[in-house]
Amino acid sequence: MKPPAIRIATALILAAGIAAPGVVAQQKPARDFDKEIRAAVESAKTAAGFDFLGTLARICRCLRAGAKTPMTPYRTTSQSRRARRRVTPGTQTPRRSLTISTFVGGKIHSSWALTTSQGIILFDTIFPYNSEELIIGGMKRLGLNPGDIKYVLISHAHSDHIGGAEMIQKQYGARIVMGGPDWQSVERYPNRYKTMAPKRDIVATDGMKITLGDTTVTIWETPGHTPGTLSYTFAVRDQGRPVNVAYSGGTAFNFVNNTPNPGIQNFQTYINSQRHMAEQAAATRATVILSNHSEFDNAVNKNRMIAGRGNGPHPYEVGAEGVQRYFQVMQGCARAAQLKLEQQLAP
Ligand SMILES: [Zn+2]
Repeated sequence: MKPPAIRIATALILAAGIAAPGVVAQQKPARDFDKEIRAAVESAKTAAGFDFLGTLARICRCLRAGAKTPMTPYRTTSQSRRARRRVTPGTQTPRRSLTISTFVGGKIHSSWALTTSQGIILFDTIFPYNSEELIIGGMKRLGLNPGDIKYVLISHAHSDHIGGAEMIQKQYGARIVMGGPDWQSVERYPNRYKTMAPKRDIVATDGMKITLGDTTVTIWETPGHTPGTLSYTFAVRDQGRPVNVAYSGGTAFNFVNNTPNPGIQNFQTYINSQRHMAEQAAATRATVILSNHSEFDNAVNKNRMIAGRGNGPHPYEVGAEGVQRYFQVMQGCARAAQLKLEQQLAP
């Protein structure tokens, strides 16, 4: 509410139709950042519904208006070690029945084998220490030949996704596809990528198509989570019916996110990428959202639901509208975090 004196002054200026000399221009009311942050979080919550609570919890959880620590902090090395210890190799059964795409991941991290008429396209390779057992072992248990892996698409160069890439390239001669900036990271930090550094191979570009036999995967650059993060759209068949999939390749805010510079720009990069992916998902009428962590697409639980599916819809199918909501969750949480940084700059 404006103070009465200013309101009168404003009314006089408007009535005169000219700026009165000597009258101080009315100050713009200060932005209510807390309200804007609440609205962004609320939009993410609404979009999440009951379908994407894991994603919401991960990237929106610290975003109460006025909270001092707005974002998921960088995962430290000791936290990563703890996370690694939590992963028990082999505890998640590989699923052939998953006709959307074959799951050969673990309880936390996912790897997917997309079978085509001319071989297999593998999405992500989990950690170096469990990729042999979970991916190679899992494929063999399902009667798939790891020698048929022709392409390995790495969503981004973090150890929970690139871990088995070097091994699969060396042992099976698969072509490795990764974003340019993430190839650079692998080459720049050999110690960080010991035993998991494939030799530079295919550098992905936005819109690039990887075709194997009857199947084409389209790659989309979605920088944010890492500078070279990749996401994909592709079609699979479920009980003979074509189903379109959107695969989201990087989710958490583990870029520099706690200072306005470069945090605000980093969040903008991330938000733009989610918009880009949402557009591609809409254009292909994607009704399935896949991720590389079970906490985001609920893979482990959905895999269990497949057995009881009967003639019902595939548990991974959330509908075109559901897929769009997924990207709205990512955008809403990122916008809220970005607003927290903008608030720091406000006078
Ligand atoms: Zn990552």
